[in-house]
Amino acid sequence: MTSAATVSAGSGPERPTDAVTAGPPLASPGELLRRLRQRHPADPVTHVERVPPRIGVPAPWPSWAPEELRAAYARRGVTTPWRHQAEAAGLAYDRRHVVVATGTASGKSLAYQLPALATLLADPRATVLYLTPTKALAADQLRAVAALEIEGVRPACYDGDTPRAEREWIRRHSRFVLTNPDMLHHGILPGHAQWSGFLRRLAYVVIDECHVYRGVFGSHVAHVLRRLRRQCARYGRADGPTFVLASATSGDPASAAGRLTGLRVTAVTEDTSPRAGVTFALWEPPLLPPDPSTAGSGEPGPELTQVRRSALRETADLLADTVAAGVRTLAFVRSRRGAEVVATSARRSLDEAVPGLGDRVAAYRAGYLREERRELERALLHGELLGLASTNALELGVDLIGLDAVVICGYPGTRASLWQQAGRAGRSGQEALAVLVARDDPLDTYLVHHPEAVFGAPVEATVLDPANAYVLGPQLACAAAEAPLTAADLELFGDGTKEAVAALVEAGALRQRPTGWYWRHRERPEVDLRGDGGAPVCVVEAATGRLLGTVDGGSAHFLLHPGAVYLHQGASYVVDSLDLDDGCALVHPEEPDWSTHARDVTSLSVVSVRSYVDAGPVGLFLGEVDVTSQVVSYQRRRIATGEVIDTRPLDLPARELRTVAVWFTLSPGSLIDAGVPPADVPGALHAAEHAAIGLLPLIATCDRWDIGGLSTAVHPDTEAPTVFVYDGHSGGAGFAERAYGMAASWLRATRDAIAECGCETGCPSCVQSPKCGNGNNPLSKPDAIRVLDVVLTNLPQ
Ligand SMILES: [Zn+2]
Ligand SMILES: [Zn+2]
Repeated sequence: MTSAATVSAGSGPERPTDAVTAGPPLASPGELLRRLRQRHPADPVTHVERVPPRIGVPAPWPSWAPEELRAAYARRGVTTPWRHQAEAAGLAYDRRHVVVATGTASGKSLAYQLPALATLLADPRATVLYLTPTKALAADQLRAVAALEIEGVRPACYDGDTPRAEREWIRRHSRFVLTNPDMLHHGILPGHAQWSGFLRRLAYVVIDECHVYRGVFGSHVAHVLRRLRRQCARYGRADGPTFVLASATSGDPASAAGRLTGLRVTAVTEDTSPRAGVTFALWEPPLLPPDPSTAGSGEPGPELTQVRRSALRETADLLADTVAAGVRTLAFVRSRRGAEVVATSARRSLDEAVPGLGDRVAAYRAGYLREERRELERALLHGELLGLASTNALELGVDLIGLDAVVICGYPGTRASLWQQAGRAGRSGQEALAVLVARDDPLDTYLVHHPEAVFGAPVEATVLDPANAYVLGPQLACAAAEAPLTAADLELFGDGTKEAVAALVEAGALRQRPTGWYWRHRERPEVDLRGDGGAPVCVVEAATGRLLGTVDGGSAHFLLHPGAVYLHQGASYVVDSLDLDDGCALVHPEEPDWSTHARDVTSLSVVSVRSYVDAGPVGLFLGEVDVTSQVVSYQRRRIATGEVIDTRPLDLPARELRTVAVWFTLSPGSLIDAGVPPADVPGALHAAEHAAIGLLPLIATCDRWDIGGLSTAVHPDTEAPTVFVYDGHSGGAGFAERAYGMAASWLRATRDAIAECGCETGCPSCVQSPKCGNGNNPLSKPDAIRVLDVVLTNLPQ
């Protein structure tokens, strides 16, 4: 084994040229791809896109960059910045708020480190606050800044893991504090008095990976940043800190960054870093040979549906094949269990080929203990690992780039995420391979047969709405608990603040005095930035009491129900019991030859109607609903074949979400008149529901992942064919309300989008949904248009 890791130990700014250590050259991605597809009798590759290499455009160091800093970068192998780095750094140094939105590994960190550190050197009292959505990224960035060895900066991470004893030292002495929005919200801002010195001298706020702050989470973070600006001003930083944001490539980054910070932000989007060429293959797993047990009759019955090989198994094979070829490969898998399955299965086949080779593959995901993640990073650093199956690009360190191949198991939901994952491939001067493996669902199938939808369309814009009343109210309560709200704050927090403050006064949460609005309670308001996940559940080995890891509360019902097979770093456990009150699951080591798959059912009941429009055969409603979802059973499936062994019932409590929904009903007669046969009503409503959810971001500045839907040919509460669209957050998030207010234009756009789509039977551009719980079935595109025509003809404009 001659391969070494692709990970550079805390190199400063990410630059492909520095990130890569040794390793055998990849023959060529084309040659590798040829070998991979040879395994299959039918060619699984539906399209190959060649992403050309790009030559870097260097720029001179800005004149203001101190010699000491240039020397520090030179020691890390950076002799000159790229032009976009210099441009963004220059804007930031001139105190202009700036967002740099370029590809993975384009060196975004230099763009903020350079002005921030130059300022810290010039002003021995100035401070910098660095925010990142994950602790892993903060740890990476800490290593990178520390490695520059700039006197007197004393960079330090301040998060939930920071020992109490160190916290005071950090507050008093660190001038470069790395943390996350949750810690800022729960810890730093409520304890602002202890941070007064730091905040008064705060020169820069760096917001890394800012495209992650979208939807309701993004709206919360937007107000946390306004609360931060407010405290800086209160402690005497009148002009306020300069914001430098780093984003993955995204649509319109300047306005997204502007909404996030509440400031005017300039965007730098031209990527001038060199990039390796990438051969990008779209891969459709082959159809499985017909099951011999059903093929004997000679007559292919209609029930004999063709099944494709699972994307997980295909990804595991691709990972094993590339690792066997000595190619450093990262596989992205959407679920935690999927990542474990891919790693385990790849290890198994490698060990069969060459005993011991399986040890060079591992799984990597959130939920592992910190020590284990460190150990995996170390193993990668030293080249002991060649293949990694990971859940999410964000959980990986920023230095983990320059891989020879990336395998993406299933479309990650947005083109922005797809490019971010693929961007991990490619070291300078060498071509890399990226493969998107389609899952067996209509969206993925559509994409691998429509490469123009992958390669020809722009990346999505990041969507958030700070004016969302359901976010604004709780955030104003937090702000008031930190310091009374003043007239000036009404402007700072933006549209809707006056009304939200009045509502808080009305509710008895705030008291108005001549000097401002005061928080009335002793306790601080409890506001969770990330929504309804619930407390994490610990996984404990019953015999030893050893803590194996944690699973977030939202997933525990699916992954840790009694009888579930729980995979942890390739080792298999079976769950004995799940105690939801204690947040603990007891497991024992066991390696059965089946996997487990939990199934849930969702229902919705109407609690109250706030407002409605009676439009003859059509009704439009806004109201509160309870959405109930319950994990009711699980399937055991043979690992080798995927065959279902049995389905076992579960006795887990249902979980309820009280939220706000918009819904419309149609009379059965109007549907028949419109030519929708009763048998097609479920597919018609379902298709209309999907498209309506897809189009809601047009009018509600939400994100389609923040909303849910349910359609039914007859609902017990409405006694009619009904389509519901609801906010996926407790108490609602304001989206359904906007949809109700603008229903005619929303549903008109929905109808037109479906009708204008060139596809015949429905596609992801119109009626298919990437998040459908029913596998996009049934769907009827032509009938969905008829349904919406009935609604639009009757609804007042
Ligand atoms: Zn279509
Ligand atoms: Zn659906």
